[in-house]
Amino acid sequence: MALVSAAEMLKKAKAGHYAVGQFNINNLEWTKAILTTAQECNSPVILGVSEGAGKYMTGYKTVQAMVAAMVEELGITVPVATHLDHGSFDGCMKCIEAGFTSIMFDGSHYSIEENVAKTTELVKLAHEKGMSIEAEVGSIGGEEDGVVGMGECADPNECKAVADLGVDFLAAGIGNIHGKYPENWAGLSFETLDAIQKLTGDMPLVLHGGTGIPDDMIKKAIDLGVAKINVNTDCQLVFADATRKYIEAGKDLEGKGFDPRKLLKPGTDAIAECVKTKMELFGSVGKA
Ligand SMILES: [Zn+2]
Repeated sequence: MALVSAAEMLKKAKAGHYAVGQFNINNLEWTKAILTTAQECNSPVILGVSEGAGKYMTGYKTVQAMVAAMVEELGITVPVATHLDHGSFDGCMKCIEAGFTSIMFDGSHYSIEENVAKTTELVKLAHEKGMSIEAEVGSIGGEEDGVVGMGECADPNECKAVADLGVDFLAAGIGNIHGKYPENWAGLSFETLDAIQKLTGDMPLVLHGGTGIPDDMIKKAIDLGVAKINVNTDCQLVFADATRKYIEAGKDLEGKGFDPRKLLKPGTDAIAECVKTKMELFGSVGKA
């Protein structure tokens, strides 16, 4: 199966009442941990690449080549999508050229008219290449690579208008935010989610900012039509924590503990564990 668009896996997820995780990658260790775990769990998986992470890894072509080669070398058979996360119009064009299998166009900061115009153009280009495309309506709060919002709730009618443009899945703000949730967070607006789902029908919905949302809210969101959940901060936190413990225990000073393959191992293992837990929660285990 290997590298595929995310359209089919999410259609199946929505119909089967589970969600596929999008786990953002930053380097080889991240990618390896996520791919190996997906294979072990027999779960479909989406590798998210933010524009910042794409730049960090020297460009989308590098990312695509690394993932494609790793899928082959590791003998990964579960469906895997390489997906641009919160892409600008230019970023989407670059990923189409680089051979990604999926893109997200984040036009939420434009007027709805401009969002519609740009999304329409990208839907055509992506589909010509057999790629899937995600659009966003209603800014998702927090901060992700400079895209800042206030945690708003999307207008269900605008969601319907964008869904009708032929996008494959839709991110809608339902009170969720990126990064760590503040103490006084009001929770997800299931009313909004329900209203969106009623108007958009079979369209798989996407929940961004999956870190820190209580498990019961995640499950309820899946019941109400969420078929893709983005996880980024969770993996960053466990990686940093495991790496700090290794250093604080002085293990880098013992023998060849300074070897980067040893130094990065606890963090990599922690990502794998985190991904497994999420796949179990989302219900995607065994669904490849
Ligand atoms: Zn997001």
